[in-house]
Amino acid sequence: MPYLHILVAVDLTEECDPVMHRAQKLATSTQAKLSVVHIVEPMAMAFGGDVPMDLSMLQQQQFEQAREKLDSFAGKYPELGTDQRHLAYGQPRQEIHRLAEEQGCDLIIVGSHGRHGLALLLGSTANDVLHGAPCDVLAVRLKKPE
Ligand code: AMP
Repeated sequence: MPYLHILVAVDLTEECDPVMHRAQKLATSTQAKLSVVHIVEPMAMAFGGDVPMDLSMLQQQQFEQAREKLDSFAGKYPELGTDQRHLAYGQPRQEIHRLAEEQGCDLIIVGSHGRHGLALLLGSTANDVLHGAPCDVLAVRLKKPE
């Protein structure tokens, strides 16, 4: 069965383009619809939970900046209409899975740094997304910087 709807998870760094190029090729060959998602992580998460101050204003700004970055990234790809650009707030794994289910996606594409050993234990979104995914997951290997 060819894939019908591919969801590309983007962290909005310069590494998104190789991931997106692979997704574009795959989508063209199977005539699949393409969507992108970026997850804005709660600031408190970065500080390990309890933060004794109100971060709501900063978080609002962070969300708006992410929206601008996502629109500017997606603007380079004419097949990504405005209803195919998703911005969510929360934990990447949980939100990517939720969105894939909600949008009826049958493939999630993420970038992978091919971490192993201790680096892998410290966390990789690709590895995280794979576990419990509601559909297939493709990890596009990202080259290490020279
Ligand atoms: P990393 O955890 O840095 O190894 O991220 C690897 C890949 O996970 C990225 O190339 C994206 O595909 C995906 N990813 C990481 N962070 C996010 C995020 N905040 N929103 C959406 N996708 C993400």
